[in-house]
Amino acid sequence: AEWMKAKPAEGAPIDLQTDRPHPARVYDFLLGGKDNFPADRAAGEAGLKANPNSRIPPRENRKFLRRVVEHLAAEHGVRQFLDIGTGIPTSPNVHEVAQAVAPESRIVYVDNDPIVLAHARALLTSKPEGRTEYIDADLRDVDRIVGSERLREVIDFDQPVALMLIAIMHFVGDADRPYEIVSRLVDALPSGSFLALSHLTSDFDAAAWARVAEIYAKQGVTMQVRPHDDIARFFTGLELLEPGLPIVTKWRPDADVDADATDTQVAVYGGVARKA
Ligand code: SAH
Repeated sequence: AEWMKAKPAEGAPIDLQTDRPHPARVYDFLLGGKDNFPADRAAGEAGLKANPNSRIPPRENRKFLRRVVEHLAAEHGVRQFLDIGTGIPTSPNVHEVAQAVAPESRIVYVDNDPIVLAHARALLTSKPEGRTEYIDADLRDVDRIVGSERLREVIDFDQPVALMLIAIMHFVGDADRPYEIVSRLVDALPSGSFLALSHLTSDFDAAAWARVAEIYAKQGVTMQVRPHDDIARFFTGLELLEPGLPIVTKWRPDADVDADATDTQVAVYGGVARKA
């Protein structure tokens, strides 16, 4: 498969493939960031045309990510985070949120987009008490991630780990066995670990999201938005923390949440579960 091709050697020039849109850069465009190219902006604009609410999901998803890390660090004492599908650095990043609670927190970031790799330095700004690392890998290559020496250097597999799969699984189509990927990752973690996952849903405006998926498909990017039941399946065998798997604005909301955004506009479910 295309994604299994060998990675460029360390220090080799990175091919940013600026002629075609990349999910990380389109997401950055929708968040109002600057790390995107004309092809990404064109895809983002087309997405906005297909669904004028396209900016709300990334924004509220990003706030959910922050609340999840705060909650896990402050209420559950989690000090290790494995964030797969990191995205282009957007402050506050996971390590900034976790280390604000506990400076000794250790974070490993994983993404397969060359532009995220190019910006990885911004993710490696750990407080001296803690540590951050970056692994250039594809989520579908579970063995490579779990077997990574860099991962083992930073993460102690005898201590709880928060596996973060935030707004990434809708880029893994059923053909790539997404449920097997998640359960193999969770299997590698010790008991007392957590899975935090958010995912775009087709439950409220299936037609609009079908148009967005079609735009991505034309550019060779798989996007599969899923109904609630299919997203809940990712948590099989785990105990969902309260309040379950709601639209992200309803997951332990704080003052920062856009309370006026409707479920249809947000269109992202999110939850956190504990491994017994
Ligand atoms: N988690 C961040 C970014 C979400 S955007 C947030 O919620 O704000 C989705 C990210 O997943 C992009 O950076 C994209 O490059 C990455 N991604 C998509 N498919 C991937 C795969 N198969 N392996 C690794 N990363 C992937």
